Amino acid sequence: MSRFWSAVVHGLTPYVPGEQPKLDKLVKLNTNEHPYGPSPRALAAIRAATDDSLRLYPDPNADALKAALARRHGLQPQQIFVGNGSDEVLAHAFMALLKQDRPLWFPDITYSFYPVYCGLYGIGQRVVPLADDFSIRVEDYLPQGGERPGAIIFPNPNAPTGRLLSLTDVERIVAGNPYAVVLVDEAYIDFGGDSAITLVDKYPNLLVVHTFSKSRSLAGLRVGFAAGHAELIEGLERVKNSFNSYPLDRLALAGAVASVEDEAFFQESCRKVIATRETLVGRMRALGFEVLPSAANFIFARHPQRDGAELAAELRKRAIIVRHFKAPRIDQFLRITVGTDEQCAILIEALREILGR
Ligand SMILES: *Cc1c(COP(=O)(O)O)cnc(C)c1O
Repeated sequence: MSRFWSAVVHGLTPYVPGEQPKLDKLVKLNTNEHPYGPSPRALAAIRAATDDSLRLYPDPNADALKAALARRHGLQPQQIFVGNGSDEVLAHAFMALLKQDRPLWFPDITYSFYPVYCGLYGIGQRVVPLADDFSIRVEDYLPQGGERPGAIIFPNPNAPTGRLLSLTDVERIVAGNPYAVVLVDEAYIDFGGDSAITLVDKYPNLLVVHTFSKSRSLAGLRVGFAAGHAELIEGLERVKNSFNSYPLDRLALAGAVASVEDEAFFQESCRKVIATRETLVGRMRALGFEVLPSAANFIFARHPQRDGAELAAELRKRAIIVRHFKAPRIDQFLRITVGTDEQCAILIEALREILGR
């Protein structure tokens, strides 16, 4: 607390990111990073860009990256917005598109940054409970009895549950709310879902946000993007150009373009994570865990006989870090990132020991 803080700062409840411990030899399964590292072509491009040209500002419009993403997704460059991580893209979307007179609707269990941005920008919220099986019910997001949303946001697959909503169901929500922007945060879609980017030509109210942090294994580079109708994108550009003209530096631009162009590496590295996830889910269930169906690079699991916080603490003693949320409805769950086969084997061994099996 400081008397020099503005009233806004006094009222903020900031987001708390998963920890990044400064220790070696940890089995780090707490922040959904990709275990296999970025495309070698991305790394080579970043090295090649590390030269005297760093004295120059980067391209403020990120044209090369927008062109690469547009090609990859069959869109026009004017339908793409890029930012310093998808968190920044989301922040600008909250300001530019989701701040309306009516409240923003989102699930009770979801990415915990959404209520933080609502607080920062003074956006009214309506929290919509997930079903008992932690799925999103489409009906809950359709206008009901004169009540309709100012805008809607949800991750698909949802975080931290990992549950996927089918593309048909996503489309029902978008089509059912022609007067509201529907933002689908697809941070994990490459691990098992069909992207709603294929729908942006059809629906002017749909914005789809992706990140390079998870499926492209570039969390350290800070790159994210949004795809949507050119008018939505222009709204985002207006906020971005009122905030920071150069959110993506030269190295990030070079690495991101090369990553997008290395489709084979991308497909293969996602495929490996999916295969490991399926094995991990089977082994966790064999240990008695209830595991929600996951289409992400993490799983969400609870044990009927053991407390979630206690399990997380026991794992930590063995240098294995997973994420535990002290939040209503989910405080018995662990969110576990899908690591390498070896990391997952270490996890299973540790759990077997902790459970006394
Ligand atoms: C990880 C994550 C993000 C943020 O990704 P960055 O691009 O690293 O900022 C956004 N949304 C969800 C649901 C995430 O899990």
